[in-house]
Formats: sequence, C-alpha cells, structure tokens
Amino acid sequence: MASAATLLQDVFGFDGFRLGQEEIVDAVAAGENTLAIMPTGGGKSLCFQLPALMRDGVTVVISPLIALMRDQVRALQAAGVNAGALTSGNTPEETDAVWEALERRELKLLYIAPERLAAGSSIGMLRRIGVSLIAVDEAHCVSQWGHDFRPDYLRIGALRAALDVPLAAFTATADEETRTEIVQKLFDGAQPRTFLRGFDRPNIHLAFAAKNGPRAQILNFAAARKGQSGIVYCGTRAKTETLAQGLREAGHAAIHYHGGMEADDRRIAERRFQQEDGLIVAATVAFGMGVDKPDIRWVAHADLPKSIEAYYQEIGRAGRDGAPAETLTLFGPDDIKLRRTQIDEGLAPTERRNADHGRLNALLGLAEALECRRKTLLTYFGEDEVTCGRCDLCDSPAEVFDGTTAVRKALSAMLRTEERFGAGHLIDILLGTDTDKMRQHGHSGLPTFGVGQEYTRPQWQAVFRQMMGHDLVRPDAERYGALRMTDAALPILRDEAQITLRRDTIKAAAARRPAVKTMVSEEDAPLLSALKAKRRGLAEAAKVPAYVIFPDRTLIEMAEKRPQTLDQMAQINGVGAKKLQNFGDAFLSVIVGDAPALHPSRRKLAGREAGNLYDQLLAVQADLARGNDGTEKPLSCSASQLAKVATLRPSDSSALEKLLGDRRAARFGSAFLDVLRQAG
Ligand code: ADP
Ligand code: ZN
Repeated sequence: MASAATLLQDVFGFDGFRLGQEEIVDAVAAGENTLAIMPTGGGKSLCFQLPALMRDGVTVVISPLIALMRDQVRALQAAGVNAGALTSGNTPEETDAVWEALERRELKLLYIAPERLAAGSSIGMLRRIGVSLIAVDEAHCVSQWGHDFRPDYLRIGALRAALDVPLAAFTATADEETRTEIVQKLFDGAQPRTFLRGFDRPNIHLAFAAKNGPRAQILNFAAARKGQSGIVYCGTRAKTETLAQGLREAGHAAIHYHGGMEADDRRIAERRFQQEDGLIVAATVAFGMGVDKPDIRWVAHADLPKSIEAYYQEIGRAGRDGAPAETLTLFGPDDIKLRRTQIDEGLAPTERRNADHGRLNALLGLAEALECRRKTLLTYFGEDEVTCGRCDLCDSPAEVFDGTTAVRKALSAMLRTEERFGAGHLIDILLGTDTDKMRQHGHSGLPTFGVGQEYTRPQWQAVFRQMMGHDLVRPDAERYGALRMTDAALPILRDEAQITLRRDTIKAAAARRPAVKTMVSEEDAPLLSALKAKRRGLAEAAKVPAYVIFPDRTLIEMAEKRPQTLDQMAQINGVGAKKLQNFGDAFLSVIVGDAPALHPSRRKLAGREAGNLYDQLLAVQADLARGNDGTEKPLSCSASQLAKVATLRPSDSSALEKLLGDRRAARFGSAFLDVLRQAG
C-alpha cells in the first residue's frame, strides 16, 4: 500500500496535509467507520479520495449533486485517478466507460447519486464490483430536520449493512442533533470514530461596514478585486438584477441569480459561475448549494444576512482552496428592522422566534464588535483559542467612546414619546429640529428636546443603529418603524451599567476608491495574468472549470517562485505527476519562454528523485563517452536505458548488464554503480 504522504505528493501534488486531514485519512484507510466534521474548504474530499487510492477495490462515493459529482470526477481524472460517475446526467458513452473500467477492476472511485440507491438492482450491482469502502459526502442530508434533507440518503444505512464495508461520512454541519442523526441513520447507532475540526477559516479576511451609499461601497469593493471570482449576496431578487447590471457597467463580468428564475436559467448561471474564471454573481441566498467552486476570491453582503449561522455559511464559500479570500458585510438600521420584522411576522412558535432573535443578535454583535471579528465569531461557535490578524478590527482597531450618556438620552427621548416613534423623529428631538411633526405632537416642549446637540445626525444614526445592534431597542412589529426598549436597556437607564460604542466607521467608508488588491506583488502580477490566460485556454479547450487545470493557489506559487525547469515545476504545490506531464511544459513556457526540450524519458521522471539520478548518470556518461582515457570509440546509452537505470537502481553489475547490455555495462557500469550507491 503506497503511503498517504507519497500519494498526496505524487497524485495531488500537495506538500502536506491540511489541519486534521492526516488523522482522518489514516482512520479511513485503515477501514474504520468514521464521521468527520470539517468546515467548508477544509479539504474533505481528499479524506476519502486518498484512502480510496490506498485501499484495494472500489470506493463508492455518495454525493447529493450531480453537477458537483461530475466536476469532482473530472478533477480526479485530470490528476490521473481512475474515477467515474453513474448519474442521470451521463451520456451513454460515459456510462459504458464506467462499466468497462469496473469490469477491468481498474476503477478506484465510483460516484453515484443517492437516487440510484432507490433502484433495487443497485445493491446487487455494487456487491458484484468489489466495493471496499463507502464515502458519504454532505452526510447531514440524512437529517430530516435539516435544510438539505434528501430522502434517498436514508437508504445508505441499508447499503452499508448489505455490503458490510466501512463507511466514512463527511459534513460541515456540526450541531449536536445533526450529528446524532447521522450516527443513527448511517451507522445504525454505533458510534464511529469522530473527528471534529474547528470552525476557523484562517485564510478568509472578515470585515463589516455600516451602509453609507451601499451601492458604491459594493462597486468599490469589486473594483479593487477586478477579475477575481466573487459573490454579492443581496436581500432581494430585484437587487441582484440591478447590482449585476451595475457591475457590468463598471466593466466586470457579472450575472444575477435568484430563486425566482427558471430552473434552466438557474442551472446555466451555476454552470457559468463554476466554469468561468473571474465571474461575479449577484445572488440571493438561493445561490450556494449548487456551487462548489474552490477559487471564489471574495464574498460581499450588500445586505445583512439573517443570522450568524447564515453569515458563516455564506462567507465560507470563499477561499476553499486555502488561498487568501476577502469578505465585506454591509449593514444598516433598515436591515436590522427588516430582519426583526421577518422573524416577528414569521409563523414559527414563540420559542423558535426568540431563538431566531438570538441568532440575529449574535450577528449584530459581530457587526458592532469592538475587537477582533474572528474571535467574536468563533467564540459564538464555542472555540476559545483564536488567533487572527485577518479582520478589519485587527487591521485597524475600532475607535470607541463611552456611549452611556448618549444612549440614556436616546432612551429617554423614546420613553417620553411613549415608544411610538422611529429613529428619524427621535433624532430630530435630540437635535432640537423644528419640524411639522414636532409641532403636531408638541414635542418641542419635551425636556429632551435639543439635549443631543453634541452629536451630528449621522452620529446619532450610528448610536441608534448600535442600540439596535446591542438589542437595547427593537422595532415594534405592530407599529412599523417605532422603536421599543428591551429589558437589556434597563441597567443602562438605571445607571447600573455603562456601554462602549464605536465611533462610526462611516467616514472611513465614504466613497473613496480603495487601492487595487492583487493576489501577488506588483512585479509578479503580469506573470500571474499570463498564467491565468494560459489556464483559461486549456480549460476552455477541455471544457472543464479553470481550477480543474490548476487552482489559483498553484498559479500564485508559480508566479512567485518562477520555476525554471520541469523539476522545479514539480515542486509547486498542486502539481502532481499527471498534471506535470499534461500541463507542465505549457506553464513552464509562460514563465521561461520556450523551455529547453527534455527527452520524453527524462520528462517522465521530472520532480522525482530518479530525475536527479538521471541527470547525474548523464553527466557521468558524458565524461566516459570516449572511455576512461578519452581515446576509445564514442558510446552512449539511450535515454530510455538511462531512465531505467535511474528508476530501477540495479545494485550490482550483473543487474546493470541486463539493462544496458555488456558493451555499455563495461564502459559505464562501475561509474553508474558509484552514482547509485552515493544516492543511497
Ligand atoms: P470541502 O471540505 O469544502 O469539501 P474540498 O475537498 O473541496 O473542500 O477542498 C477544497 C480545496 O482545497 C480543493 O481545491 C482541494 O484541492 C484543496 N486541498 C485539499 N487538501 C489540500 C492540501 N492538503 N493541500 C493543498 N490543497 C488542498
Ligand atoms: Zn481579528
């Protein structure tokens, strides 16, 4: 059995495991039943793909979405792995090819759609083909209470029992209930080896900003990341269309996506996003489940998400390849009002509504956080050891002030007007603005009239927004816009508690054009674009998504390290043996111009120890071309003979003679054996 580390390097071209992968790979390869909970982008696929290569027989992979299965299969094939899928999306030729590979016992991974399990014949078929492992992707789909329930997933338990092989289940959804349900449904209640890897996604930069010309804020954010794939989540369907239009007018490739579109149009949009490099999609939250693009470089929220869980899931779609990714979440008082109202007007029972308010509060707490966002976010998920340095508040700490007096004044204005007014009118009272409404209600006579003139209107707006964010006040569901005080405000009102507020980021968010963010330094940027152009050409020709050729990370490393030879190319993360063979030259020639020609026999050894040996043998041979004293007839070995010596490493002269014949063995034998011996 080839070792996991060797396969990781040779097949996938990765230098090392990501956090948590190695333990899972070991357990799965050893045939243990396992349940692994890893965040999106943690690298789950590798945790069954690698064991599949290490084990005899076929690994059956059950995965909920056909389009994603096809992409995984393509990516595996591009890495030289014998994988196939049986889905309703197959052409007859594809299906035939899968069957032939199965019959020849060559297939290592067979992806099947859960619907297939409904056909009674499937279990019989799977029994015949020598399945040795079942891998279940998105295992939370067995959960009847979850949002992605797939009834066919319930058949997997029976399949495992019938085949009597180990099962490895993977999911990013970690809550206790779902986990219990997975154990019941997939493992018949017997606890599998469970791996829980933390929620942190260290490569994702977190940032929030109060809305202040939100359209310009989003356009600026996109402008600084031109040419990079991104998602803009919008609160309404209409906004997805207008923002996509705005982005196109600003010169981006952008499309929109929402649940009101025809199913076909939705699929086309998903496909385009998956395949095209640098496309932006403006979407509602309906966009996500069908997307499995590892190189999404940024996610922006044009409107506040509905909860901290939703936020985490949505930003989590960025940067699954591990390369730096950025996020920006906009929020304003109207968002808070809208989200509160949605919860209050929903049909859920009270308990559930309270929980939803709590989840929204957690997100607002994150939006108004005074220190590190990552710490605030992960603390909510129960993690206590957090290192960051990649969030807006770590970049530049929030400016804070003691807001106790301001909040008290605002509360007092609210209470003296019987909690019947919205922020706009309350701010007028605090500023002492004379309006019709003021006169109509006789509010200019209130003791709070004009007591807040130390702040400007935008500053008061920020105070009110933060009061909503801290859940001190809530919009009244019955009287739209009117603010009511919550119990949380009582201690402040009674002078028993202080509150620290942020001086608003509004001035910083004003529509100044941010500096362009590139993925590499300025001097490497042109090379990176050239490499991307090469990748695009190859991807289009092969009709596969760009990342199937190489992920961004790999191109970035190429642009930075500038490998000069195929051997150096093989050292780049993400360049496995098969891809080196297929694409190595193409990318090398982008970096060094036309690369010096390598003999095909030598090319096959690129990046391996044998390649190095080959070069030494070649040098020794050149010295001996005319024999020890330089007077004999010229003689040399063929490239394929040298390659054989370098790979097989004969240990004595008779073994060497078999490879080279007696004449060449006599001339080069002892020198070659020296080279081999020195290499150990
Ligand atoms: P998820 O856990 O979301 O299913 P994937 O399995 O799709 O994540 O992996 C996300 C990306 O990370 C893929 O592009 C994959 O090739 C890459 N990846 C996985 N493991 C490693 C590793 N050890 N080193 C480098 N890249 C990796
Ligand atoms: Zn931070």
